Amino acid sequence: MQKDLIDFEESLCNFSSSLFSIGVANATDALELILMSLDIKPGDEIICSSHTMLASASAIKMVGAIPIPADIGSDNLLEPKSVLSLINSRTVGIMPTQLNGRCCDMDQIMKIATDNHLFVVEDSAQALGARFRSKHAGTFGYGGCISFFPAKVLGCLGDGGAVFCQDPIVFDKIYQLHDHGRNIDGEVVSWGRNSRLDNLNAAILDFKLKSYQTVIDRRRQIASIYNDNLKDIPYLRLPPPPDLSSQPLHYDVFQNYELAAHRRDDLRQYLKDHQIGTLVQWGGKGIHQWPHFKYTGPELPATNKFFEECIMLPMNVFLSDDDVHYVSETVHSFYSKL
Ligand SMILES: *Cc1c(COP(=O)(O)O)cnc(C)c1O
Repeated sequence: MQKDLIDFEESLCNFSSSLFSIGVANATDALELILMSLDIKPGDEIICSSHTMLASASAIKMVGAIPIPADIGSDNLLEPKSVLSLINSRTVGIMPTQLNGRCCDMDQIMKIATDNHLFVVEDSAQALGARFRSKHAGTFGYGGCISFFPAKVLGCLGDGGAVFCQDPIVFDKIYQLHDHGRNIDGEVVSWGRNSRLDNLNAAILDFKLKSYQTVIDRRRQIASIYNDNLKDIPYLRLPPPPDLSSQPLHYDVFQNYELAAHRRDDLRQYLKDHQIGTLVQWGGKGIHQWPHFKYTGPELPATNKFFEECIMLPMNVFLSDDDVHYVSETVHSFYSKL
């Protein structure tokens, strides 16, 4: 917790227009620490997306609350109508996941939260720099997390994460929780644990953050090429292309390029045979589909269907335009044989 970390936290606040940020050991810790700072009681329910990393649900579980997965909408993000249908007297909060580097419809999510006196904690692990109505992922509600795991849009050399929050009292609480109950002056004032982002990683992240916009630009460019090349294939449902207007509703950073594809497993194999690696997010399961979840809630038809078809095409700054065209042509050639 030396100067490198303090510098990086300040850069992060400037980049995301967040009032406070705290470097922590990983984004899962960030979510847990944010939830620990809330007055959560056993049996409290927190609504989250069914299409998210287990970390969202496990953070809820680890503080003694109950994760309630909601269905996804046509953009594969948390569906506001489904959230509304799950609210009851035990509901205390909503945890939207800003998945694949795209924010949910935060107008609707924040309105539902306000109307029902619920907190919003964003799982924005994948979404550093993503915006909705020019507001940054992680800065909408009570708190948000960012992950610097190497596979994320801004990665460090191992695990790392950050908390965003906008209230000085919340900042103090989470700050103490992440450093053995010590406040910013180093005095022990409460209980806490150790969840630090170390200086070496902070220094590297601070350096990388300076050119992070070029990473976002390139990811958006690749998404545009995929969209142009693939949009006429009726067997695919693509993510929304980057909104290139000067004041976009959604400004997406494309952590992933995830789509729904007819005959997904055959397509995957065909691409593999042509030296193209693909991924299926979360091992191909929504959080409610893991056996240990013992899910007994309402059907989540959109999520269930999506997990039969979802696939992620190569998306990273090391791809050339030729690579992206090659992937697109190979997808075309697979469907032309049907
Ligand atoms: C990666 C990820 C996390 C967890 O991040 P860690 O830094 O690995 O703890 C949580 N939620 C989502 C949506 C993620 O993609």
